[in-house]
Amino acid sequence: MPVDLHLHSTASDGSESPTRVVEMAVDAGLAAIALTDHDIQDGIAEARRRAGSELEVVPGVELSIAYDTGGMHMVVLWLEPGPGPLQDRLEWLRQGRDRRNQEIVARLGELGMPVVLDEVLAEAKGGSVGRPHIAAVMVRHGYVAGHEEAFDLWLAQGRPAYIPRPRLSQEEAIGLALESGAVPVLAHPHTLLIDRAEEMADLLRTLAGYGLVGLESVYSGYFPHERDGYTDLARRFGLVPSGGSDYHGLYKPGLEVGTGYGDLVIPDRVLEELRLKAGK
Ligand code: AMP
Ligand code: ZN
Ligand code: FE
Ligand code: FE
Repeated sequence: MPVDLHLHSTASDGSESPTRVVEMAVDAGLAAIALTDHDIQDGIAEARRRAGSELEVVPGVELSIAYDTGGMHMVVLWLEPGPGPLQDRLEWLRQGRDRRNQEIVARLGELGMPVVLDEVLAEAKGGSVGRPHIAAVMVRHGYVAGHEEAFDLWLAQGRPAYIPRPRLSQEEAIGLALESGAVPVLAHPHTLLIDRAEEMADLLRTLAGYGLVGLESVYSGYFPHERDGYTDLARRFGLVPSGGSDYHGLYKPGLEVGTGYGDLVIPDRVLEELRLKAGK
């Protein structure tokens, strides 16, 4: 039975509740999922309640990491909600998000696209607020034709309404994850925008030196040769080739829990290998 180790819910910028995400995973015949909302673990208790003994729920989180030239995300698996070294930093990250969101809303006003913060909070349904929620409000106001346009013209890094927020460093994120008894996995490596093989090798060597455990090699939208390439790369650096759909519901249309764009299969032996590394 396959697994899916990267999923979002209404606790962050997914459109579906943790309950619904679990139901979709059961319907897809999955053995296990990891709920990896951005900077928040509020969905995990609900997911566990719905899952019962039908499905294993690995508690997780997704972090955005300081990185100059592209987007670096880290999926952290087996991070138990509650107090702990990394858990305690999540609140700080969320405060950084809240300040950043207010600044984006103010900037959009200056750019002639007035948005009220309350609309954004309503869009987020009480969860951790992200740019996809702001994009959705911009679409509703007719400022942009769609989600992608909101990012491409305004919200993406380097665009006029982009505002940075505090992030953990690579070493800090991996260190805090390990101190918390959790398993750090470098997410969707294509967003690093690295095209030189030596540069990727240098980065993975460095991160493996900090204690990185996995590389998300099987990901929605990757061609088979890319999945194989990242899997080989993972093995070269002693990393486990993890995988996930990065399901976000309506915020990433066309993506399904477990199967991604239809052809995603993450074998449960990947989970077992990660579990072994984690001593879980
Ligand atoms: P935030 O965590 O609030 O900074 O927002 C980051 C999220 O926005 C990512 O996890 C993606 O889901 C989404 N995102 C970032 N860049 C883009 C982009 N260029 N196009 C569409 N969605 C994006
Ligand atoms: Zn997201
Ligand atoms: Fe991500
Ligand atoms: Fe994600």
